[in-house]
Amino acid sequence: MAKKTIADVDVADKTVLMRVDFNVPLDDQQQVTDDRRIRMALPSIRSVLDRGGKLILMSHLGRPGGKGFEAEYSLKPAAEKLAELLNCPVELASDVGGDDSQAKAAALADGGVLVLENLRFHAGEKKGDAQFAQTLAGLADIYCNDAFGTCHRTDASMVATPKAMGDKPKVVGFLVAKEIEYLTDAISNPGRPFVAILGGAKVTDKIAVIENLLTICDEVLIGGAMAYTFSLAQGGEVGDSLVERDRVELARELIAKSNGKLKLPVDSTCGDAFKGDCNKQNVDAGKIPAGWEGLDIGPKTAEIYAADVKKAKTVIWNGPMGVFEMPPFDAGTRAVAEAVAASDAVSIIGGGDSAAAIEQFGLADKVSHVSTGGGASLEMLEGKKFEAVELLDEK
Ligand code: AMP
Repeated sequence: MAKKTIADVDVADKTVLMRVDFNVPLDDQQQVTDDRRIRMALPSIRSVLDRGGKLILMSHLGRPGGKGFEAEYSLKPAAEKLAELLNCPVELASDVGGDDSQAKAAALADGGVLVLENLRFHAGEKKGDAQFAQTLAGLADIYCNDAFGTCHRTDASMVATPKAMGDKPKVVGFLVAKEIEYLTDAISNPGRPFVAILGGAKVTDKIAVIENLLTICDEVLIGGAMAYTFSLAQGGEVGDSLVERDRVELARELIAKSNGKLKLPVDSTCGDAFKGDCNKQNVDAGKIPAGWEGLDIGPKTAEIYAADVKKAKTVIWNGPMGVFEMPPFDAGTRAVAEAVAASDAVSIIGGGDSAAAIEQFGLADKVSHVSTGGGASLEMLEGKKFEAVELLDEK
């Protein structure tokens, strides 16, 4: 069921409390080095301001100790960057919900923007504290969640605050709406064939995703180091590849219950050291000699996976096929990325490393959706429900 978005509520003369993700990287001079997260929140922000609403923004940044103001974690650089991007003044409260927040919120004019200080300056944020949430909720008429990266968390600003809003409108911003549209709606009614490509270092991190996707996909293609744990489960030789020996039995079980949907690499590109300029060779799967480690899917696998993607109507990709940060072991990940970019399928890239890879290859604008949340997107693909989203208003 679709959630109400910020566009569905009348915001004129009203105050909107919007949870955003301004957890941006800063350099030694406290300058924002990558403003993407701020820019991504602009559509929701502008939607409120353009319709004569007042806006209070709240976010965390880094990991302060929860004992009050710490200059290095201040949201001041983010507020300044926002003012620059909006080309309008942005107020910054010196606290989060305290006297200064209250005074500046009360003084907000229509079309005005106030950024509260870092939510994590207050110990109540991580604890989901109801009283802290009540203070935040009391600042506004409408609550909006546009912080997808923290949607899997139950911090006070994500769950207790919308709860404390009572009957007042509680909606999603455009960023969260798009994530839900692709990571749950598109998956619940997919065009078929529906192909998932899963890679990365560890089977452990992906067990729940593999299990969930096996129930809804037509094919689950495995790459990355985790393929070697599956190879061990089939009695293969994996040399010095990264494996999880305590997950071999589980890998065997997953293969057994996959009904042939789980597809493993047929070859591997190996190196004799974990270096880009090591000696290399391509070998068949399960035949990696001692002294060598598998660092990428091989060229035959890349070709097979690209052909599978070409036939698909829906594609989900999470996790690199090899050590994509270290050429030439980016070849398999690149081949998959190019196939996904070239396909007409609904294509969804999970956050984290696959998002980094598709950006690195300059193909991000050739896919339907690149998720902004690493942990959150993985949990959504596991089929988990998020309380922070569930409690918001339905259309
Ligand atoms: P994850 O965080 O589980 O998605 O894993 C991503 C990491 O797995 C990336 O940093 C890759 O370099 C790494 N990775 C992928 N394939 C391999 C491999 N064959 N050997 C070692 N590391 C790998």
